[in-house]
Amino acid sequence: MPIYEYRCRACDHEFEAVVIPKGDPPACPTCASGDHLERLISQFAVSSDGTREMNLKSARKQAAKIRKDKQVAEHEAIHHHHH
Ligand SMILES: [Zn+2]
Repeated sequence: MPIYEYRCRACDHEFEAVVIPKGDPPACPTCASGDHLERLISQFAVSSDGTREMNLKSARKQAAKIRKDKQVAEHEAIHHHHH
């Protein structure tokens, strides 16, 4: 879920909020106002989190694939050895 940074124009408080699609819009945790929020551009924070997660997933996927290939190779080596 995307996390956005907001600034409340009512009390000048900055905070991060997880934005739930089709959910309620965030409100300021300090003054509970949802009408004076300004969404800050925090592409760096959002994209770095996303990239890290994707890298982790693809690294795990890659590791699993390498393990599987190794098992298959070992199995084939044993198979060929016995025949
Ligand atoms: Zn506020």
